[in-house]
Amino acid sequence: MDIQIHQPLSNYTTIRIGGPAHFVADTHTVEELMAVETNAKRLGQKTYVIGGGSNLIGRDEGFDGVIIRNQIPGFDVIADDSESTTLKIGSGELWDSVVARTVDMQLSGIEALSLIPGTAGAAPVQNVGAYGQEVADTLQSVEAYDTTSGNMVELSWQDCEFSYRHSIFRGSSYGRYVITSITLKLYKKTPEPPFYAALQSYLDEHGIHEYDVATVREAVIAIRKDKLPDPSILPNAGSFFKNAIVEDWQRNSLLEQHPDMPSYKMDEKHYKIPTGWLIEQTGLKGESLHNMKVHDANALVLINQSATSYQDLANARAQIVGAVRDLFQITIEQEPLEITNQ
Ligand SMILES: Cc1cc2nc3c(=O)[nH]c(=O)nc-3n(C[C@H](O)[C@H](O)[C@H](O)COP(=O)(O)OP(=O)(O)OC[C@H]3O[C@@H](n4cnc5c(N)ncnc54)[C@H](O)[C@@H]3O)c2cc1C
Repeated sequence: MDIQIHQPLSNYTTIRIGGPAHFVADTHTVEELMAVETNAKRLGQKTYVIGGGSNLIGRDEGFDGVIIRNQIPGFDVIADDSESTTLKIGSGELWDSVVARTVDMQLSGIEALSLIPGTAGAAPVQNVGAYGQEVADTLQSVEAYDTTSGNMVELSWQDCEFSYRHSIFRGSSYGRYVITSITLKLYKKTPEPPFYAALQSYLDEHGIHEYDVATVREAVIAIRKDKLPDPSILPNAGSFFKNAIVEDWQRNSLLEQHPDMPSYKMDEKHYKIPTGWLIEQTGLKGESLHNMKVHDANALVLINQSATSYQDLANARAQIVGAVRDLFQITIEQEPLEITNQ
């Protein structure tokens, strides 16, 4: 186990913002994780688990406890039949390496989630999703260390209470469980059209009419490389805002003023409105605000141009949220979580 002291959170978050953490412990096994948790509790230190820091923001005051950097490995087939393969994956595995390996095995279910940064253990936290797939579609269960009881537990799909970019891990049980492995059931069938609109357009434009998991993965990677800045070059946390969910009456009234507003039906009463489109209408796409920049290829992404303080980010966020509220009476919500001392 590797423990470092007084390390800036900006070194551990892809948007590169955040003051010092008292301790950063790299854990490679469940035993190491339990040892850090037990010792931290004994010494009255709080803990916060991170993976790749790609959906996280540090504050200027940093974290006066132990940041646990999860690196637990594992990739095992635990069941296999003519239709499906079930895999148990260590939570510290890089998510995109997991996707690549399952695509090599010709398994379908997470190929559209290619190139999402971060670790497998973080994928259920916000129920990662892209191009028509979510991890909740294939996740069976997770194993986790319960910081309340000090025991290892297994949580079923139902226990996780997944919804759009949400689960108990960032909701009612935020901070309680450290996920140590995830179990996914993937299928031995070829993906079938119609695909998610942007993916289908890419496939059609490139004359791709025979689909397998590898072609879908390649297409998703190509689209993402075009639309999303590489955090190692332009620091960012992916989509900075969630898409807006509105009730049908609100959508209807907005459509009267903005007839070209895109919206997608979620259920009988709710519609999803792309927040990137809302921000574009405010004229802020491509603008530099308080040392941050609204990405010119995708207004959902905020790039850290030269911000060294959380306050810069907070000022840029307030300006964008305010502009969208003024124009559409919708309050957009931040997607990345923040490491706080509370
Ligand atoms: C360029 C870019 C593109 C992105 N694209 C997408 C996208 O298409 N779809 C999407 O959904 N997301 C996307 N994201 C967001 C992000 O990649 C995902 O949310 C990812 O799952 C975060 O993984 P991580 O390991 O970096 O988690 P971190 O950022 O380190 O942590 C995120 C949260 O998960 C918790 N957590 C981490 N590991 C564990 C664990 N083992 N047990 C319990 N809690 C844990 C942390 O405490 C924190 O609350 C993107 C981000 C970037 C930078």
